[in-house]
Amino acid sequence: MATAGIKVLKALIMGPPGCGKGTISERIVKDFAMIHVASGDNLRRQILQGTELGKKAEPYIDDGQLVPDEIMFDLILGELAKLKNANWLLDGFPRTVTQAQAVQKIEPKEVVIDLNVPFEVIIERIKGRWVHIPSGRIYHTEFSPPKVPGKDDVTGEPLEQRHDDKPETVQKRLEAYKKMTEPVLNFYRDEGILTEFTGNYSNEIWPHVHKFLSTKITPLQYTVYK
Ligand code: AMP
Repeated sequence: MATAGIKVLKALIMGPPGCGKGTISERIVKDFAMIHVASGDNLRRQILQGTELGKKAEPYIDDGQLVPDEIMFDLILGELAKLKNANWLLDGFPRTVTQAQAVQKIEPKEVVIDLNVPFEVIIERIKGRWVHIPSGRIYHTEFSPPKVPGKDDVTGEPLEQRHDDKPETVQKRLEAYKKMTEPVLNFYRDEGILTEFTGNYSNEIWPHVHKFLSTKITPLQYTVYK
C-alpha cells in the first residue's frame, strides 16, 4: 500500500449529529495512532474541573449556543501547541470560519474528512432509539431490540424516547448543523483539502476512510478491506 511521506498528520473530522462520527473517529485513532482532540469533551472536562475557562464556557453550552471564539482559541490552540509533533484528529473544532482561519494559520491541517450521511437515514436510525432513563440503557427497535417491546430487559420498566431523538427535533438539529457548517466546509473546499465520504452506515464508509488515510500516513496495521 502506498503511503505519502508526511511524518505527522493533522486531520479534522466533520459530520452531522448521528452520522457515526464517534465510531469512525475511534477507528481512525486506533488504526493510525492519532490523538483524538474533541472540543466538546475538552470543554466538559474544564467544567468538571471547575477551571476559569470552564466557568466562562458553561453558560453558553447550557444554553445550546456556541462558545465564543476567544474562549475556544484559549482552549484548543493551547492544546494543539502541546501536541506539535503528534498526529492528531480534531473533532468539533472549528465550527466557524473565524476558527477555521485561525487554526489553519497556526497549525495547518492536511486533511479534512467530511462524513456525508443522508439526513433521512440519520432520522430513521435515531427514530428507533429507546432509552431506560434511570439506568441509561439504550435499545434500538431494529439493531438491539428489548426482549419485550417497550420494556427494559432488567427492570421491566417502560422505555422512553429522548426529546432530542424525536424526528422533528432531529430534523431541526440537522438543519442547524448544515447551516452552521456549510461555510466551514466551503472554506476547506477552497483550500483543496476537503474529502467527502458518502454512505449510509459506518461499516460501509470506514473502508474508504481507511484506504484514503493510508495514502497519507502509515497505519499501525495493514487491514485488508474488500
Ligand atoms: P459537542 O460535544 O461537540 O457537541 O459540543 C458540546 C457544546 O460545546 C456545543 O454545543 C458548544 O456549545 C460547545 N462547543 C464545542 N466545540 C465548539 C466550538 N468549536 N466552537 C464553539 N462552541 C463549541
